[in-house]
Amino acid sequence: MLSVGLAMLQGARHEHAEALRGAAGELGLELNIVECRRASHVSSDLDALILPGGESTTMRIASQHESLLEALFDWMNNHPSRPVLGTCAGAILMASPGEERAPFLQASIERNGWGRQRQSFESTVDVILDTPQGDACDVAPADRDMFAHQPLEMQSQAAQSVNEGFPGVFIRAPRFVADGLSCTPVAMLGDEIVGVLDGMRLGLTFHPELTLDRRFHRWLLSQAQHTKEGQ
Ligand code: GLN
Repeated sequence: MLSVGLAMLQGARHEHAEALRGAAGELGLELNIVECRRASHVSSDLDALILPGGESTTMRIASQHESLLEALFDWMNNHPSRPVLGTCAGAILMASPGEERAPFLQASIERNGWGRQRQSFESTVDVILDTPQGDACDVAPADRDMFAHQPLEMQSQAAQSVNEGFPGVFIRAPRFVADGLSCTPVAMLGDEIVGVLDGMRLGLTFHPELTLDRRFHRWLLSQAQHTKEGQ
């Protein structure tokens, strides 16, 4: 049984939980999702972590009370071989965790680098990451109405090959600054780097949890499984 911590900071958390459940089904893995709301929830039992998107400033402020962000960063420092997925604002936090901390992604990132909400867009992303294939698996969708979110009309692509395009959803997305990058590009939008891997830390400027292509969530779970087996 894998335990994956989901940082309940703010923003797109429930969709990540659904994507994780889908990915676990596709890989035939048992999964326990730990909703991390306080520092005490971020234990060394977690095999992987997700930092969702949202508003990074709000996340920093909201987490001050419970010291949640500091606990998540401590966990990342203490468990460098356990995988972390940071999407959008989550990637911003990993690249700039604050003055006192070394970045978890060796990358400069510019907030709202594409412009404002009106400049949000969807486009196909090329993935250069070895993600495991899965078996098609119907996971009952969560009641999205509960969160007033509209599901995207997309096909499940569990068995998709590594090289096929990924449906990139960019919402007030940040941009990696090419000059300030010393980690591996793993997702490209044309010439632009939109995903990087630094050790076991994967930072994406788009929102894979808003699609039914669970490649990146499968990557997280399979890496977590691999690390756990090696312990
Ligand atoms: N613009 C947000 C920020 O700067 C990130 C947006 C997102 O996560 N979708 O924190």
